[in-house]
Amino acid sequence: MFSGEHAYRVVISADDAHGLVVDDNLRMYIGKGTKVYLLPLRHRNQVSFDITALNPDGTWAPKVSKESLLETVSGFDERIVNITRGLDMNTVNVRAVYDIDPVDSWHTDSVVLMGDAAHSMLHHQGQGANSAIEDAGALADAVTQAATVKEALALFQATRKPVTDELQRISRQGWIEEEVNDVFPGQKPTSQKPASAPVTAEARA
Ligand SMILES: Cc1cc2nc3c(=O)[nH]c(=O)nc-3n(C[C@H](O)[C@H](O)[C@H](O)COP(=O)(O)OP(=O)(O)OC[C@H]3O[C@@H](n4cnc5c(N)ncnc54)[C@H](O)[C@@H]3O)c2cc1C
Repeated sequence: MFSGEHAYRVVISADDAHGLVVDDNLRMYIGKGTKVYLLPLRHRNQVSFDITALNPDGTWAPKVSKESLLETVSGFDERIVNITRGLDMNTVNVRAVYDIDPVDSWHTDSVVLMGDAAHSMLHHQGQGANSAIEDAGALADAVTQAATVKEALALFQATRKPVTDELQRISRQGWIEEEVNDVFPGQKPTSQKPASAPVTAEARA
């Protein structure tokens, strides 16, 4: 399912982050249909800088200009705007954002889906790769606990699917500012001004 959004992702030097890298915490800046994620990678003096913005173009790898990126952060904190202005567009990964609805069955008697193949979800809660890793652990546990491969795959799905069904559901939330407190309870500063102050969330990898 196309989410109606684009994700623009790049890793930049912390020296080009206009002073926004102050600790190891993820910070999210949300407003006007745009989410900006700043994830410090301080051990390598870098920061992951992601903009997710509304866009009706569902082309898999759309062509976007620097001007289009700047429009998505118009009115944001000037440091966010300045980071965006300084980006080398050749290094920016541009993708339309898709997920899938929950699927009924992940396995036959001998073959199983896991990770995004089983439960691709939107990245708004940063749970896709985390879920794939948890799948791997759950599958290993199921294989050691069950008597047969067939039973192990059924046990794996029974363990993981309720969790990822829910994550797929809530990953479609959190887009508009009013939803932030539901998705990240207690993490929205009461003094937050629209599109300027960060919301810190530990939910993302
Ligand atoms: C914008 C964005 C931000 C995200 N942020 C986060 C985050 O903060 N935290 C988080 O946990 N998750 C995040 N995710 C989700 C995360 O990237 C995925 O959930 C994760 O990569 C899924 O891992 P996977 O191994 O299941 O699938 P993939 O990473 O898609 O790996 C599948 C691999 O199979 C290969 N392949 C496909 N077909 C074939 C074939 N026929 N033969 C051989 N190889 C093939 C592909 O090339 C690919 O390398 C984000 C996703 C997006 C799009």
